[in-house]
Amino acid sequence: MHQHEHTKAVLNRMSRAIGHMNAVKKMIEEGRDCSEVLIQLAAVKAEITNTSKVILKDHLQHCIVDAVQQNDEAAMQDLMQAIDKIV
Ligand SMILES: [Zn+2]
Repeated sequence: MHQHEHTKAVLNRMSRAIGHMNAVKKMIEEGRDCSEVLIQLAAVKAEITNTSKVILKDHLQHCIVDAVQQNDEAAMQDLMQAIDKIV
């Protein structure tokens, strides 16, 4: 089981983002103003980005610190690939 210091906070953030996404979906179903929808979608995107930051920091502080100490090249390569996709 791979758990981190902020796993619970990450799960709470995920629940909030999912709730927010559903609210935006409802706005679209109700034919709400596109500019309002876009602003809310941007807010959801920011929530997701912030959640990624929490996961990345947890991963750096624990898994990657361990990987460096154990000379685990694979864990570092995996992180490099993830960074290429998230940045
Ligand atoms: Zn990790």
